[in-house]
Amino acid sequence: MGEGTEHENEENERHKQDEPHDAGARRDDAVRAAVEQGIVGPGNPIIGLLDVVGIRATATALRDAFDQVTPAGTPVLHAFAVKATPLVPVLRLLAACGIGAEVASPGELALARAAGIPPDHTVLDSPAKTLDELREALALGIAVNADNPQELSRIDELVASGPTASPLGLRVNPGVGRGSIEALSTATATSKFGVALLDEGARAWVVRAYLDRPWLTRLHAHSGSQGLPLELMARGVRTTYELAEEINAKAGRRQIDTIDIGGGLPVDFTTDDPTPAYGTYARLLRREVPGLFDGRYGLVTEFGRSLLAKHGTVLARVEYAKSSGGRPIAVTHAGVQVATRTVYAPELWPLRIAAYDAKGRPKNGPDVIQDIAGPACFAGDLLATNRSLPLLEQSDYAAALDTGAYYFAHHYAYNSLARPGIYGFTADAGRGVRFAVVRTPQTLDEIVAESGGAHAEALTDGL
Ligand SMILES: *Cc1c(COP(=O)(O)O)cnc(C)c1O
Repeated sequence: MGEGTEHENEENERHKQDEPHDAGARRDDAVRAAVEQGIVGPGNPIIGLLDVVGIRATATALRDAFDQVTPAGTPVLHAFAVKATPLVPVLRLLAACGIGAEVASPGELALARAAGIPPDHTVLDSPAKTLDELREALALGIAVNADNPQELSRIDELVASGPTASPLGLRVNPGVGRGSIEALSTATATSKFGVALLDEGARAWVVRAYLDRPWLTRLHAHSGSQGLPLELMARGVRTTYELAEEINAKAGRRQIDTIDIGGGLPVDFTTDDPTPAYGTYARLLRREVPGLFDGRYGLVTEFGRSLLAKHGTVLARVEYAKSSGGRPIAVTHAGVQVATRTVYAPELWPLRIAAYDAKGRPKNGPDVIQDIAGPACFAGDLLATNRSLPLLEQSDYAAALDTGAYYFAHHYAYNSLARPGIYGFTADAGRGVRFAVVRTPQTLDEIVAESGGAHAEALTDGL
């Protein structure tokens, strides 16, 4: 590929990612078809939509980006961070695109296994693995990154008790500092994750830990998520690489053969464009850490949000349109249950809202400042405030965009609101829009069952 400017490269990637027609047009087609086909309507007033063409394109863009900066034959595993979109059909779709899974709980591992992700495409991270979880992972041959010295001692015992196919590593905290969202910054001085390299004696301890354990062959860091500048992420990767070089030099061999650089590529929530592009990050990494890309190391990545965010849409019916204190308010069925972060921290997590009419067509008309509210019974349950949009009226639809990761797949059961159905769609120019059920809507019986329905008498007669 030519060495065009960074800007030209971004443009090329954007066009490639947006074929066959762009994300906004596909979404408009899907919303209209969902209304026409009755997938959303008065009796089922909220759904999640997933753009399958978009997901495939982004998965391909991720693989291409790292293929272009690594010599042929370099082992690269892209392990999707399951926590971003914990849905079995999504994991299966990604697997079909050559993407594995990063799991961080027994539930996430179960989802990855249900999706058919093979053990050698699965990586287990998380700060609180039980002995049973570790034992199972080593029996399955899943890669494990230990978080701390106590966990490493547990792994010592398991390794001593029998052979395992699991590649084993240690998570370090490169200490590069925080981004704009404290709760998502994992490389701060006091972060709860990994071995804090900047602590006195920590680096020497890590080196010794490797020299004492010839089977410890991986090194892992994940410096943070949304809000972290790319330069800071790259510095975290460089610190990790330099530590691997130091360990291998002291070991006198290439003991560490694979570096897991984590995920964390931020997403631009103001546009349909997939920026920053994977290619931009991959080229930045190669520039900042060339030794990591000369073929001596295998790579693992753990991207989550950047793979799925742009491909999800919450579509919610406007049940009522009212006015309060002179402010128009669209009361919709999408609120805290599907957009928890946005509702509780609106300044950090603003979402784009698109307005559609009762037939699912993009709404025209003069922009009006209005609030888009959710169905939950507390005053702060607002998807957006003071938003300039064509006026939403009763029976229209409001779409919350970029919600494919950490939104509608992360149900919050406030007010016992049901988990909405989720539908994947393809919207090919010629063949029209087709839907597939990804997750059925939660039923009232399921809500009762999950709320102790089988134990109704437990507190009155059971004690
Ligand atoms: C959350 C997480 C990821 C994914 O982060 P994104 O910001 O969604 O890309 C990757 N690795 C680890 C260890 C994580 O905790």
